[in-house]
Amino acid sequence: MNDTQLRRSPIMPTVDFSAEGIQHGFLRLPYSRDDSAWGSVMIPITVLKNGEGPTALLTGGNHGDEYEGPIALFDLAHTVRVQDVQGRVIIVPAMNYPAFLAGTRTSPIDKGNLNRSFPGRPDGTVTQKIADYFQQELLPLADIVLDFHSGGKTLDFLPFCAAHVLLDKTQEARSFELVEAFSAPYSVKMLEIDAVGMYDTAAEEMGKIFITTELGGGGTATAKSAGIAKRGVRNVLSKAGIFKGVVDLVQTQWLDMPDGDCFSFAEEAGLIEPLVDLGDAVRKGQVVALIHPVGRTGEAPIRISAKIDGLLCARHFPGLIKAGDCSAVVAVTI
Ligand SMILES: [Zn+2]
Repeated sequence: MNDTQLRRSPIMPTVDFSAEGIQHGFLRLPYSRDDSAWGSVMIPITVLKNGEGPTALLTGGNHGDEYEGPIALFDLAHTVRVQDVQGRVIIVPAMNYPAFLAGTRTSPIDKGNLNRSFPGRPDGTVTQKIADYFQQELLPLADIVLDFHSGGKTLDFLPFCAAHVLLDKTQEARSFELVEAFSAPYSVKMLEIDAVGMYDTAAEEMGKIFITTELGGGGTATAKSAGIAKRGVRNVLSKAGIFKGVVDLVQTQWLDMPDGDCFSFAEEAGLIEPLVDLGDAVRKGQVVALIHPVGRTGEAPIRISAKIDGLLCARHFPGLIKAGDCSAVVAVTI
């Protein structure tokens, strides 16, 4: 096998990205296994193209237990009409499809966290092959990228759309314009704990206008959070000049995550008692949660304190917490 063959993705799309009109198909990823010798993972994809114009790449299910994105994108794929679009829209409602079907953050096949797998490998695990296909084939087609996230089973977020502070200030400004257009209740200048291997970073390093969301969590969606996602994706496509339908812009509150003091992590395991809820104002030094030791009675709880003034924008979701878990995130109103 030569280098060219080694670099080529095994994923075969059943859609033609250059064809006019609307196509519903699959990214077919060969996956040989016990119950299907020549089987495949069939990742649903929709491509709409109407003449010349920018390309939007819309993704959900990067993590398999986050649902607002898949809801908004399965909905968009079957409701949008090609005449509503100028340019091209590529919709992948469940990027890490095996994880999505399993209802888990990572893939049940290889335990791969897609959003820590970029740039991926064409000859790697199933998750690495998905990352590689987006890196090599889909991101290069895109002008703007919207990747939906929520908190999954272990975190809960205020509903927000976000982009990152970037070295290229033109790219950053265009990203924040789209964040504002999304019209989530909150808009965030987002700081990542661990940006290596993220889809976000891959897209930004390619010069793409990249925006993301955190729209709730707990491993489910609500009527409100799903509605924010469905409205947001149409608003973003409209702002980008791709969607010609009616949009619904609403006021958003901007938040900043200036540095690592936004995050609090548990140092002991136990039973977490929230003392403030999402959206509540907090002061530096304020105790935002208690962790009750559960090995025996009579022990004092451990305090989790805010390190900055702001409001609570994310929190640990399950009732029990482990050492190292992110317990609270505070963002600053701007
Ligand atoms: Zn996620």
